[in-house]
Amino acid sequence: MESKNSVVSSFDVDHLTLREGLYLRSVYTINDSLAVHSWDMRFRAPMDHSPMGSGEVHTIEHLMAYYLRLDEKIGASIVSFCPMGCKTGFYLSTMNDVTAEDIRAALARVYKQVFPLKSKDDIVGLNEVQCGNPGLFAVAATNDAMAAYMRALYTREQADEAGIGSIYNCAW
Ligand SMILES: [Zn+2]
Repeated sequence: MESKNSVVSSFDVDHLTLREGLYLRSVYTINDSLAVHSWDMRFRAPMDHSPMGSGEVHTIEHLMAYYLRLDEKIGASIVSFCPMGCKTGFYLSTMNDVTAEDIRAALARVYKQVFPLKSKDDIVGLNEVQCGNPGLFAVAATNDAMAAYMRALYTREQADEAGIGSIYNCAW
């Protein structure tokens, strides 16, 4: 499947021109043998000055940290999933030569399985035992933020093909 140009492997991340998308930020090697790729999952263009709210960031962190690890293709290769402090995106670290296309496809599978959220009960791990601030979440705004991000990664035709055509027709 051909990717949108917002899905690239590039070390050149200039925040003045950076758009929403999925970018390879760096590759580092642990113990001279294990290559770890650090991906920039950019939900909001930095120059738009419209970061996500803390509720969306926290909700997406819970869902992605859980569901991406269960993904059949890349789940076992995930090292970490963390929010950016600037609230414009997330960092995903992977091993085993996971590609941008592998991640894009995994995001579509998770999207199809989990979104749109109907209530806070759909947010895994949101309780006092597993989380530091279970009162911090967002349902509607997270649905909007995820659909917007998926539109940055998938054209309308690609979304239909991947079974996530609803990202272009958000009726919730
Ligand atoms: Zn939490």
